[in-house]
Amino acid sequence: MDCLFCKIAGGEIPSEIVYEDEWIIGFKDISPVAPNHILFITKAHYANINELSENPKDLTALFEAIRKYTLQEGLSEDGFRIVSNLGVRAQQSVPHVHVHVIGGRDLQWPPG
Ligand code: AMP
Ligand code: ZN
Repeated sequence: MDCLFCKIAGGEIPSEIVYEDEWIIGFKDISPVAPNHILFITKAHYANINELSENPKDLTALFEAIRKYTLQEGLSEDGFRIVSNLGVRAQQSVPHVHVHVIGGRDLQWPPG
């Protein structure tokens, strides 16, 4: 399948990986919006967070990975935000599920 994040998961396209286990990788967003901006993806292809939610094992693995990474980096103490855009109106630009983990600065609310 011609999918950017499948290619990143498969190592075909380089990325700065900061977390990896059997099911998940976390890598630096190429266009960061904060000092810490990591994308967590499943190695298996799902189009979005709703499709992923049909597979509890991968869904749990994704949030486990985020928990481990944010504890390790001190983000759990400092505060961080997770975002997963779905579809056109939310401006999802890559159709392979990804959760943004954003931290390292004061964040505003509400988002745009
Ligand atoms: P979204 O717009 O929510 O679908 O998020 C897609 C994210 O992928 C954006 O924040 C992009 O900056 C990021 N992105 C696109 N291409 C790459 C890449 N090759 N490596 C790392 N991040 C990327
Ligand atoms: Zn994919």
